[in-house]
Amino acid sequence: MGIENIKEGVLDLLYPKRCPVCDDIVPEKKRLCCPECERIFYEVKQPRCLKCGKHIKTSGKAFCYDCSRGMHFYEYGVSLYEYASVHDSIYSFKNGNRGEYARFYGEKITEKLGDKILAMKGDALVPIPLHPEKFRKRGYNQAELLAKEISVRLGIPIRNDILIRIKNTDAQKHQGDFGRQNNMKKAFHMVQNDVKLKTIILVDDVYTTGNTIDAAAKELREGGIDRVFFVTLAIGKGK
Ligand SMILES: [Zn+2]
Ligand SMILES: [Zn+2]
Repeated sequence: MGIENIKEGVLDLLYPKRCPVCDDIVPEKKRLCCPECERIFYEVKQPRCLKCGKHIKTSGKAFCYDCSRGMHFYEYGVSLYEYASVHDSIYSFKNGNRGEYARFYGEKITEKLGDKILAMKGDALVPIPLHPEKFRKRGYNQAELLAKEISVRLGIPIRNDILIRIKNTDAQKHQGDFGRQNNMKKAFHMVQNDVKLKTIILVDDVYTTGNTIDAAAKELREGGIDRVFFVTLAIGKGK
């Protein structure tokens, strides 16, 4: 038994892995999710919008309703799951102190979308930052946990120091689309680009309206980044 295996064994005893679907302790040591639970999350179906990657109900269209009428600051993005199927799990991941789910999510993202993420040729993965106040409350940034899992598996460096959140947008749930968009304006600030990064892949847990990703992409583009892509664990449905 190697030292790494012993370490892992001890960690398993101290922190048994919880299933991201049912939250029970996963019975088999090598697994990150119960076998019967794996089917609960479902992947984004075809056809998908060529820009945001949402499933489009009407076939024969290249873009979803939102992307066909609005401009985005990113190139395109990929997401693994339909948000509705993974909503509860993500809620615990963010608010129920279940950061450990990131390992399963990261494993699935790279297994299913690894080729597409590598094709973006990103110089770095940049997790969508939390406002420092929120970070203090939660103790971790869920987007950063995801980015770390993707980073180690695909060998793309992670940079969590070039984008900061300068606006605490906690109240955005209670606003309509327009209010939310307004609220995201100047939510981020790009700090530096000392190594002259050209292509950035933003990482977040969920893409819904796209306002968060867009606000971050806009700031990066204005800061001199040529191309911005995104990868999220889940995405809402398109029209
Ligand atoms: Zn389970
Ligand atoms: Zn779209």
